[in-house]
Amino acid sequence: MESVCRRCYHFSKNLYRVTTKDGGVVLLNMLVCVSCARLARSLGLATVKMESAKTVAKTKRVQAMTDSKQQPVQPPLSIR
Ligand SMILES: [Zn+2]
Repeated sequence: MESVCRRCYHFSKNLYRVTTKDGGVVLLNMLVCVSCARLARSLGLATVKMESAKTVAKTKRVQAMTDSKQQPVQPPLSIR
């Protein structure tokens, strides 16, 4: 999934879904970046932060790698 704002085409790690409903009819439904979501919110539009399961898994993997690095592998001793 591309993490690009549909409004300003700025690459963003966290996307927000902005929706506008009028009488139960969805008029607007687009993914935007943080700054555009803030703007939408100031205009009174509904914004929901998108939680990506992929991003969560990636973060956990990075933490696991960091833990394994706490025990450095001994470099082989050169025999002379
Ligand atoms: Zn934007």
